[in-house]
This record gives sequence, structure tokens and C-alpha cells, in this order.
Amino acid sequence: MYKKKNREIIIGSNNTGKIKEIRDLLPKTYKILTPIDFNLLRSPKEKGRSFTENSLIKAKYYSKKTGKICIADDSGLEINYLDNAPGIFSARWGGKKGNFNIAIKKVFRELNKKDKRWKEKKIVARFVCALTIYGLKKKPIHTIGIVKGLISNKKKGINGFGYDPIFIPKGSKLTFAQMKPSKKYKIDHRFIAFNKIKKFF
Ligand code: IMP
Repeated sequence: MYKKKNREIIIGSNNTGKIKEIRDLLPKTYKILTPIDFNLLRSPKEKGRSFTENSLIKAKYYSKKTGKICIADDSGLEINYLDNAPGIFSARWGGKKGNFNIAIKKVFRELNKKDKRWKEKKIVARFVCALTIYGLKKKPIHTIGIVKGLISNKKKGINGFGYDPIFIPKGSKLTFAQMKPSKKYKIDHRFIAFNKIKKFF
């Protein structure tokens, strides 16, 4: 029989913001592990050309290293006005240390380069999340979640991580960083992606 209880799954990420969020989404019947439990402090090189390819690289890497089922996400911010940048390079815009203040400054700098009057415009953007589960079925399971929104012309709010202080989801006046995490988790790209694959658990 398909034994669903006491299963283990590793979240293929060293990003504490993502781990917190994915942990909340996973079924409570699973024992949840992270790379730190295996002393895996390095993440694999993200050489893929899409969010899906990169999430597969991570899910496969952590699953093979640990022998566990792995769920990994690759996500990022796409800004129309910047030809969808930073996109799959969203983490890298924060420099070697992944400093989100640096990444946000770079967004503002790039928008300024493009158009000095960008602050008067609606800067359309979206967060994209590709999730891959590796090791649960014969083939990897993939899904994508997208949340549309606008870029705020200044940082607002202190919650969350990454580009949360400058992203205003469609239908809201608040940035993700101004919302309670519990509210953000119910509308964001990871939640949308996860809902499409939760039937596999
Ligand atoms: P990666 O998927 O680990 O390569 O990194 C994704 C990057 O996209 C993060 O480091 C953040 O900069 C950004 N990002 C992804 N999801 C979110 C989110 O929910 N809020 C804010 N930033 C995010």
C-alpha cells in the first residue's frame, strides 16, 4: 500500500525566507528536512535557462545527495520595463552575499537608466515560481505559479525577503513586505504553484 505517513522530504534551498514559506505549505504528515540537516551548505550552480530548469537542478541535486524526496523552487521577479529582468538572475542582483538592499537599488538604477521619469509610470511586474518535486514519482513533477503586480517607487515595509518591499500585488495597495507573512503566503507565486501540485502528496 502507498504509505503516506511518516514520509520525509527535503526543501532544496538555503534561503530561510523560502524554507519558512514552503514548510508551511507542505502536508503536516511529512517530516521536513533542510540542507543544513545534512551539512549541505553549498547549493548547486544554477546553469539553467529558465526557472523550471533551475528548480530541477536544485531538486535533483538535493534528492541525489540525501536519498530523500526533494521539493525545490526557483523564483524571481520579472519587470516588463526591464525586458523581464532580473528574472532568473534575481538572486544574483544582490551580489555575492545576496544583499536584498543592493538588489533593490539595482532595480531602481536600471529603471532610472531606462527612463528618468519612471516613477510617474505604472511599472508592471510579476513574481514567478517554478517548483519541482524530485523522487516522489518516476518522473520529476513541475509546476509554475505567477503573481502579477506593480513596482513601488520606494521601499515599503519590513516583512518578508528579497524584492518584497517594492512589489505591490494586483488588487492591493500594500507591498508584500507591508503585509503580514500569513497574508502574503496565501496569494503569492509559491502558493499558486504549490496548489497545482499538492494533489501529488
Ligand atoms: P533563487 O530562486 O534561489 O535563485 O532566488 C530567487 C530570488 O528571487 C530570491 O533571492 C529573491 O531575491 C527573489 N524572490 C523570489 N521569491 C521572492 C518572494 O517571494 N519575495 C521576494 N523576493 C523573491
